[in-house]
Amino acid sequence: MSSAVGSLARRNSPTHGQGVYATAPIPRGAAILTMAGQRLTFAQTRDDLRCMQIGPNLYLGETDPADPNAIGDYLNHSCDPNVGFTQGTLTLHALRDIAPGEEIRWDYSTSMNEPGWRFDCLCGAGRCRGAVRSFCDLTPAEQDRLRPIALNYLRRGG
Ligand SMILES: [Zn+2]
Repeated sequence: MSSAVGSLARRNSPTHGQGVYATAPIPRGAAILTMAGQRLTFAQTRDDLRCMQIGPNLYLGETDPADPNAIGDYLNHSCDPNVGFTQGTLTLHALRDIAPGEEIRWDYSTSMNEPGWRFDCLCGAGRCRGAVRSFCDLTPAEQDRLRPIALNYLRRGG
């Protein structure tokens, strides 16, 4: 499957370190990239390693820098994301048309599910929840809203 990974670039953001930006128009529905990395259990994760949760006791560690999808490690969070896991798989898809120069961001609550995990959110979205929390710690209404862009393991029982 082709992806828009060739239309992405990692850049310094004026407000939040590094981010990933579109360098060309990306149409709604386009595959952006597939999250990659070493599969780890919770016990194998470390604070100095970028990790994302993909299952009840399954995480993706940092991606091999040679992998074209490694740019996925630098995607920031938004409470009003422009990409999401619309198929429930590890491939992010565009939720709307994305213009060149726009930052690519997904909602971290659509993958994390550790009770109590949170950090203050400064994403700036009009619908910002104020804190990024695990899926299990969201309200039922928030879970219903995010389920269509969440990983498959979070959709069960919904
Ligand atoms: Zn936010």
